[in-house]
Amino acid sequence: MLADLHNHSCLSPCASLEMSPGLIARTAAAKGIGLIALTDHNSTRNCPAFRDACKRYNLTPLFGMEITTTEECHVLTLFDDLDAAMEMNRWIAAVQPRIPLNLDYYSDQPVVDADDNIIELLTYFLGQAVPHSLESVRRQTRLLGGLFIPSHINRHSFSVESQLGFLPPGDYDAIEVVPGTVDAYRRRYPDLPVITASDSHCPEQIGTWPFHIHLEGQGHDIAAIRRGLMNLTLNNLSSTP
Ligand SMILES: [Zn+2]
Ligand SMILES: [Zn+2]
Repeated sequence: MLADLHNHSCLSPCASLEMSPGLIARTAAAKGIGLIALTDHNSTRNCPAFRDACKRYNLTPLFGMEITTTEECHVLTLFDDLDAAMEMNRWIAAVQPRIPLNLDYYSDQPVVDADDNIIELLTYFLGQAVPHSLESVRRQTRLLGGLFIPSHINRHSFSVESQLGFLPPGDYDAIEVVPGTVDAYRRRYPDLPVITASDSHCPEQIGTWPFHIHLEGQGHDIAAIRRGLMNLTLNNLSSTP
């Protein structure tokens, strides 16, 4: 199955307003993606619409967000259960800085339904770092039963390497790396699943850098996805030099 675990909807201040959850699901299905995550910046508010949209196209959804930690590292927190994702959202929203959204630089942040109707416009900037550390976000994700995956760890900004200089040893379900660097990171971290993702912000980017995952059974819950990710490490040491 093809998986793409990093996509931004119109709720993200840096994403195209065309990126409704409905369009993301429709486009992903057309590109053969089977497992897809919605990961807006510091909010899961478009995940209910994403659940409804994925149902229409028979996709397995993951509900999550890309959190900007207090170190300004981007990390993905992903759940198979919408309630757990919304609980994670409450944990973030309770401490989120309420800096007004500047429309000179960013676009509106609409919460929408699966038919692209606007339900609410969030007026504070969702891209701001939240006062929770990488470790604290990891612990809360684990507590709620989710997957914890640092985003684009070798990108030049908002990544663990750019902010900390290295990947702290720890409990990760996978690491997402910049396309073209998978083999190098598989050799560097033989025990970790190394994935790519589209990090889509506009329709053309959806499904551009998926990875293959084998999921056993029909349920496709977090446990099955975690096993599928771990199986990616089996070939790490045999990757081409
Ligand atoms: Zn990011
Ligand atoms: Zn992103």
